Amino acid sequence: MKTWIAEVISVGDELVSGQRLDTNAQWISQQLNELGIRTAFHSTVGDNLDLSQTVFRNAAARADIVVCTGGLGPTADDLTREVIARTAGVPLERRDEVVAHIRQMYRIRNREMPLSNLVQADFPAGATVIDNPEGTAPGIDFTFLPAAGHHRQCRIFALPGVPAELKQMWSLSVRPALQRMTGASSVIVHRTLHVFGEGESKIESMLPDLVARGNDPVTGITASAATITLRVSASGTNGAECEEKIAPVLNTIRERLGDLVYGADGQTLADVVIGKLKQRGQTLAVIDAGLHGDVASALAVADHDRSVLRNAILPAAQSFATYCDPQNGAHGIPPLQNAAARIKDQSNADFGIAIGPLNRDPGKIERGEATFDVTAIKVGSDGEVFTSDDRYVYRGHSSWRQQRAVKQVLNQLRFMIG
Ligand code: AMP
Ligand code: MG
Repeated sequence: MKTWIAEVISVGDELVSGQRLDTNAQWISQQLNELGIRTAFHSTVGDNLDLSQTVFRNAAARADIVVCTGGLGPTADDLTREVIARTAGVPLERRDEVVAHIRQMYRIRNREMPLSNLVQADFPAGATVIDNPEGTAPGIDFTFLPAAGHHRQCRIFALPGVPAELKQMWSLSVRPALQRMTGASSVIVHRTLHVFGEGESKIESMLPDLVARGNDPVTGITASAATITLRVSASGTNGAECEEKIAPVLNTIRERLGDLVYGADGQTLADVVIGKLKQRGQTLAVIDAGLHGDVASALAVADHDRSVLRNAILPAAQSFATYCDPQNGAHGIPPLQNAAARIKDQSNADFGIAIGPLNRDPGKIERGEATFDVTAIKVGSDGEVFTSDDRYVYRGHSSWRQQRAVKQVLNQLRFMIG
């Protein structure tokens, strides 16, 4: 089976100067990987004719497939068309059908077309146009034939730098073309499970035979802000074959980790909480004295149609004390439960969550340690009140302890909802 070698080239002064992060190369490499194509090189070059030519010449000599982004705009610093033509030693030709497309894009937007835009209709002789349905700059599909300086045939796909345009063009044109070209001899499918509540090494020790190199499917483990992700990848001749290999591994992980697994394939804890409540037609309200509203904003992001999160308040200390004061609500329950019950009733929600302030222990502040209490409350259909009270330690590296604290609260809610 032929091993295809790919190179990704990113073009732009904004990239090499560090003003903008090159996210296209990452995305494209992931896409190539899913087609079973190995990316061997990433190259980044500024908007410079000579330097770009060197980069393209090298790529054509060492890769079978090159995917390039950027430099296809209408301005003088957009040089990709010319670089490809010069590297291949062919002239640029203006394509009438592309001129018509560009004029049409301007007509739709009701704007006058600057004449300089016509350079976007210039293509290296022999190139195929890659349609760009929602933008003016079409892409270039060009094959460098084996010649002096490049011993192999190399097919290059040049796409605009705008991430949304290139992704659309990838799905519509480039991916199918690559599948035809490589015979789609293999595909790679990845599935992920997300875990919260234990550390990375503990999780790994619960799955000793799975997280080993050389397994098929291969299981990888990564940790990010206290969430552990298990990624199971399989290759096969088609997606169904991969899924069949992956399913038993996912089952084993779920069996061993039980409810430490909260979601799959990109779900967040907030997605899971909102999803469960939505399924049941239930709502919730949050009063937050400790975590700056971050629990509510995570929930709001997941609550796309705003059907679950009824209310969220960030009280000042004095107002929080009023919420907690038993004089102002049910008698005989602890203050934080009182706050949760009040926000729930006030918002006419099914669940109330009260997040207490950070209780800083003066001896531990230097280590960033504090505790905070959380109460979630709901009333069952028969009027019975359920509460879940927890105390958490606010600890860890300053870059992620806040995120971890938010996840702890969401995880508590996940269990309370059941
Ligand atoms: P261009 O096609 O070079 O005119 O780029 C158009 C827009 O896409 C600019 O706003 C760039 O900052 C953005 N862009 C270009 N290349 C990349 C890249 N490799 N990663 C992320 N954004 C990019
Ligand atoms: Mg550019």
